[in-house]
Amino acid sequence: MKFTYCPICGMKLIEKDSWDEGAVPYCPTDDVMYFDTPKPCVVVAVIKGSEILLLKQSYTFKNSKVLVSGYVTNGESVEDTVHREVKEETGITVGEIKYLGSDYLASKEIIMLTFMAKYVEGEIKVSPEVEWANWGNIDDAICEMSEDEIGKRVVRKLLKEIKYEGERAYRCDIEAIYCDIKDEK
Ligand SMILES: [Zn+2]
Repeated sequence: MKFTYCPICGMKLIEKDSWDEGAVPYCPTDDVMYFDTPKPCVVVAVIKGSEILLLKQSYTFKNSKVLVSGYVTNGESVEDTVHREVKEETGITVGEIKYLGSDYLASKEIIMLTFMAKYVEGEIKVSPEVEWANWGNIDDAICEMSEDEIGKRVVRKLLKEIKYEGERAYRCDIEAIYCDIKDEK
């Protein structure tokens, strides 16, 4: 987000040259530069054997299941966010967190930091913001996440990480099939 006014004192910001960034909005009163940074958010694929934790949240995708996700809160590490969001949304404790790369969502200025994590303990108990959560077969995840493109990308990376063999999990994956064909040319 590009800042115009100082969120601390409310004064109109001036521009100040930063080394690499060029002109950056700056408050001389508070001596703070307001860089145009994205909002960090985590997306987590939680696995338990051959199963994956899927959620339903109609306010994000109406007809699609999604992975656990949430914003990084100021003061915590991104790994803390992974533990906290999975726990808050589903009641599950996870371990063996592994970073799977990032994806930028331009429409919302969000940087999605994607992870896989393994189930440690707990029964599923959803938070009020989640309609439904349950374990599903990894084979069916891509099919059930039809609208969630970033989520599906995480599942594809996860399948590579767990050295998934076979094709069943990709049977609904039109985009991936199309990309493979393109890559071969
Ligand atoms: Zn200020």
